[in-house]
Amino acid sequence: MSFRSVFLGPPGAGKGTQALTVASGPGVLHLSTGDMLRAHVSKGTELGAQAKGFMDAGQLVPDALIIAMVEERLGGEGANSWILDGFPRTIPQAEALDQSLQAANASLTHVVYFRVPNEALMQRLTGRRTCGDCGAIWNVHTKPTQTEGKCDACGGSLTHRSDDRPEAVSQRLEAYDKQTKPLLDFYRSKGCLVEIDADRSPQEVSQELSDALAKEVC
Ligand SMILES: [Zn+2]
Repeated sequence: MSFRSVFLGPPGAGKGTQALTVASGPGVLHLSTGDMLRAHVSKGTELGAQAKGFMDAGQLVPDALIIAMVEERLGGEGANSWILDGFPRTIPQAEALDQSLQAANASLTHVVYFRVPNEALMQRLTGRRTCGDCGAIWNVHTKPTQTEGKCDACGGSLTHRSDDRPEAVSQRLEAYDKQTKPLLDFYRSKGCLVEIDADRSPQEVSQELSDALAKEVC
């Protein structure tokens, strides 16, 4: 069974971790548009140079550039299954993706939404503490250190980053909900949306995810 999936989920939902787990299987590509963009910029490709121009000017990288990057990656690899992570984020992007797949005689098989109530996400995200020395990430609720405020790995001091503070987190979550709702409706109306209850252990989520990917829904 091969799949061509989009993964959607708010920050803190564990979508990236699940994508990495699925992509550790044979023949599965994990296409994180954020990672792809950084790789293009650091390798200095033509796409990377164009993208960097927008980023340096403090502008969003245009959809057409992201689509070109995704197309290039999908065309160049012989993978029979892939997961798109971080794209599409808007309806025009979703429509552009559909057209690009159609042109290649392909279509999506699943759009997976990792659903977690905002209160649970608040707890996951505001509890994060980052080690200033080694960069390790801890969580006062879910992954506490032995001594409060000290890194277990290196003994460094832990910091609470400003974007992990409650006001900043709730703004990020609101922005995500607002941006994603139309996308969920779009894929639901096409009969493509699979909702997974991600407010559970990563193992339980992973099990439900592999069951969901085993049957084509679009
Ligand atoms: Zn550390």
